[in-house]
Amino acid sequence: MAGTRQDTARTGQDRAGTRQDRAARSVFVTGGNRGIGLAVARRFAAEGDRVTVTCRGDGPPPGENLLAVRCDVTDGRQVDQAFKEAEAAHGPVTVLVANAGVTGDRLLVRMSEEDFTSVIDANLTGAFRVVRRAMRGMLGQGHGRIVLMSSTAALHGAAGQTNYAAAKAGLVGFARSLTHELGARDITCNVVAPGLTETDMSRALTEEQRRNLLGRTPAGRPAHPDEVADAVVFLAGAGHVRGAVIPVDGGAGLGH
Ligand code: NDP
Repeated sequence: MAGTRQDTARTGQDRAGTRQDRAARSVFVTGGNRGIGLAVARRFAAEGDRVTVTCRGDGPPPGENLLAVRCDVTDGRQVDQAFKEAEAAHGPVTVLVANAGVTGDRLLVRMSEEDFTSVIDANLTGAFRVVRRAMRGMLGQGHGRIVLMSSTAALHGAAGQTNYAAAKAGLVGFARSLTHELGARDITCNVVAPGLTETDMSRALTEEQRRNLLGRTPAGRPAHPDEVADAVVFLAGAGHVRGAVIPVDGGAGLGH
């Protein structure tokens, strides 16, 4: 059966992700200038892929083998321009990592509408903007891997994070709905949900917040950004994993 042969070929193509002879992929990582995004970008570059990272201000550290493009994901025109630059340099994007995110913690009673919507705009609507733009090329190629960066806050909530948790939970419904829309196409959309991870974002937490989070983490330590990158790279090579949420949280959610 032709369908079976084709499926087998796709599986081989995905497995080739770790082989030297695989063609370089065009990878696009939002917020890839630092933190988790930079760790993800470095991993793909080390595998021989052509990697574009977005930045708003400072780019990635000098000497990295990464194409840096300006892009604020809250601005659709900047998203479009960044993709044009990536496509011109590396060809259509076949791996998208929607990683850019911000927090704006405040108890709900003190949270303004702007506090809420700005966090939704960067974390959730920003992912919508980049995924929709990337889909053009992926549909044309008949191939694509999309990974959205959520958080354990999406599934467990956190005091002071109604805006952030709502945005990150929204990514799960987004990925699963898109998975239904994509059907049998060789384009996947999955979610990675890190727990506390050592980056600028987590360094902004108070000691008490860190203690509370680690107290609920069997591993008893934060993740290193490379450990989150492991999950992203896995999903970029996994053609039959779809609409999944992969926690990278030291057991804090025991798989959820
Ligand atoms: P950092 O604060 O270290 O980095 C955030 C990145 O997102 C930066 O590159 C930043 O760019 C970018 N970014 C923020 N807003 C925008 C925007 N509007 N447009 C474009 N880029 C933007 O955070 P992390 O590396 O820790 O976070 C990466 C992702 O992982 C986020 O989505 C975060 O929510 C998620 N996460 C992090 C956890 C942690 O403990 N660290 C835990 C769970 C999830 P710039 O340099 O220009 O500010």
